[in-house]
Amino acid sequence: MIVHLKENINEMEAVKLAEATRAVFYEKEGKYILITPSADHELPAVLESVTEAFFPMDSDIQLASKKYLSQLREIQVGKNVKLGGDHNNTLLITGPCSIESREQITQSAELLKDLNITTLRAGCFKPRTSPYSFQGLGMEGLLMLAAVREKYGLNIITEVRDATHVDAVIEHADIVQVGSKAMYDHGILKSCGKARKPILLKRHFGATLQEFVQAAEFILSAGNEQVMLCERGIRTFENKTRFSLDLCGVAYLKEHTNLPVVLDPSHAMGIAYGIPDLTRACVAMGVDGLLIETHPTPKVAKSDAAQQLNHDEFREMYRTLEPIAKAIGRKII
Ligand code: PEP
Ligand code: MN
Repeated sequence: MIVHLKENINEMEAVKLAEATRAVFYEKEGKYILITPSADHELPAVLESVTEAFFPMDSDIQLASKKYLSQLREIQVGKNVKLGGDHNNTLLITGPCSIESREQITQSAELLKDLNITTLRAGCFKPRTSPYSFQGLGMEGLLMLAAVREKYGLNIITEVRDATHVDAVIEHADIVQVGSKAMYDHGILKSCGKARKPILLKRHFGATLQEFVQAAEFILSAGNEQVMLCERGIRTFENKTRFSLDLCGVAYLKEHTNLPVVLDPSHAMGIAYGIPDLTRACVAMGVDGLLIETHPTPKVAKSDAAQQLNHDEFREMYRTLEPIAKAIGRKII
């Protein structure tokens, strides 16, 4: 159950009420919001005189549920990019899997500038499957990315891999990406909950939709209402492609949650030849964002080389997206 406490309730009282009802709580514009276990269907007696409004919920998908907030939550990226809400925008995020050098990231930024794309991605702290693979440039990469952000006026998105650098990423990024393997890291989720930056939460490839949205609840219930869900492929019996992009799951998320949805066909397919068609399918589905990996020279990429589009391939695909978006009343931004 979600309970909005009355305005005159202070933090100390909220702490006591949360303890008495086994609730978590956060503060919003001077008021406290308590979230009790979903099994509560009647307002606990202790809350009767202090409650402004309450919303019984039928599962632990609570703050993310359309039953609580029927409109899509609005996300503000940087100073002037908005998605979700009633914007009908599809944010196109692109850039390399990893930042590798100043030259590589500059070429990537120039592609975005040329096409009027606002949001550059590049990983600095890479959560690799093998300890012998390239692990990313770390802090050096993050500072390089921050400099490119400044020089080109782009918004940047980069991922957190573990608790050692979560504050640095929150400080420099316009969107903080929680990678699929970090979806279950509650330390990261809670830090993201305290951040005042939008969070892109990727679905773990073995997570059910319920588990995925519950991970988002950790961020929301710690007070950060700017959460986007990213479907990036789940593991199935199929091994001809890297993962299986769960578009049925996306339909579920759009129907039942109030969180903007971003689709990442690059990591799902894992091979560049499939990406343009898949991206068009994703646009046609009416999602709030797309994440597409591009690299000036994919062959020499230090991570995810097989799936990154080169810049010509990306340009060729890009010009086909706007008419599809327009046909369903959306705009690629
Ligand atoms: C990535 O975005 O480069 C990445 C590692 O994604 P995922 O966490 O989905 O594997
Ligand atoms: Mn990648």
